Amino acid sequence: MKRFMQTCYKCNCDVKPSKVKREGIELNCMHCPECNEDYFTSSELIKFDILTGKRKNIRKFGTLGDSTIMRIPTHILKAYKIKPGDYGVFEEKSEGILIKTVPAKEVKA
Ligand SMILES: [Zn+2]
Repeated sequence: MKRFMQTCYKCNCDVKPSKVKREGIELNCMHCPECNEDYFTSSELIKFDILTGKRKNIRKFGTLGDSTIMRIPTHILKAYKIKPGDYGVFEEKSEGILIKTVPAKEVKA
């Protein structure tokens, strides 16, 4: 695990790479020997969410025939009023992929 931090945010002591078990899942963290605080990278927290089934905003890529597919969470479809036939525009960002939605009715000539 790459060292994403050197010192504890609370007490400023040197933190050390460590492992902890949360709900039966081993996670890498940076541990403060002084105040016992554990610090996790966002990728460790995502791993935890996936393995514990807390996946509100996480979906797995799958295959359907020759295509790679991903299911969209229902609460996202509702929040963005996305319906079958609407379009999604993929914008490549440095942090990842942004999907901008375009309703089908806005595309009609
Ligand atoms: Zn500390």
